Amino acid sequence: MLDDRCEWLRALNNQSLPIETIQPHFYDVPSVTWDVLRADLIHPVCSGNKFFKLKYYLQEALQQNHTMIHTWGGPWSNHIVATAYAASQLGLSSLGLIHGNEPGQYSATLQEARSYGMELQFTGWPSAPLQTSIPPNSCPIPEGGYGVEGAKGAADLISVSLASAYTHIICAVGTGTMIAGILSAAGNAHTTGIAISADPGLKHSIEKLQPGTAFSLNTDFHFGGYARKSSELLAFMNDFYRATGIPTDFVYTGKLMYGVASLIRQNTFPMGSRILTIHSGGLQGNRSLPDGQLLF
Ligand SMILES: *Cc1c(COP(=O)(O)O)cnc(C)c1O
Repeated sequence: MLDDRCEWLRALNNQSLPIETIQPHFYDVPSVTWDVLRADLIHPVCSGNKFFKLKYYLQEALQQNHTMIHTWGGPWSNHIVATAYAASQLGLSSLGLIHGNEPGQYSATLQEARSYGMELQFTGWPSAPLQTSIPPNSCPIPEGGYGVEGAKGAADLISVSLASAYTHIICAVGTGTMIAGILSAAGNAHTTGIAISADPGLKHSIEKLQPGTAFSLNTDFHFGGYARKSSELLAFMNDFYRATGIPTDFVYTGKLMYGVASLIRQNTFPMGSRILTIHSGGLQGNRSLPDGQLLF
């Protein structure tokens, strides 16, 4: 039996996620429908897929009576801030191992993680690693939640009955954990990942978590690599927001929506296709942009 500390996990788990329909005048192909699953709305900090990917790791840490967890990420990591917040809600201490050297000025993300009580240590770079000290009884959570538990949690983003209403499910791919989970609940809906980085190992990372399941990985919309962007991407995000009222982030969901809109406009989908895209959250990362570039 889980104790009261799991109440926060249960409460978020029981929330149902809204689905919004994009009006066809935005993407010009009325024979196709496009819906967005607003997983970003599940929680303002532990947002989008991060809650889903974390929940089984956290539940296990509590079940095993750990009092501390640690994980890894970059200075603008959605995973770091979500983990810091979730740990604070569950009464766990947390340690964030941050790639790179300690900056003079911490990013907004790291300041926020610290405000939830996360201790931060900097790992340096592979060519010049820094000494870190992880308490021996601390429970590790893999970076980005990548692993079987993370995929199992991500599978809860959609149900088999929800998936059966769609011909296509499309999501962003960072580590591949989310799409691996979605594949186990997608039924007959064809699942496509939009790669947000140029990492050549992505397909293999997904297959390792979900062997023998068919999916597509599209690598045309990463804009040059992880966290790379162009003025065209930012202009699209503003257009998408004006047309739909849905904010996106430039690292993941902006590239996802840009890719989906492009694929629809290129008539890639058969007539009558019903597309579901996953809004996986991540809006806090937009704080790394200079002011005034986004309308939201
Ligand atoms: C972390 C993240 C992803 C990537 O998910 P993976 O499971 O690592 O593929 C996608 N979208 C958002 C908003 C994220 O924060």
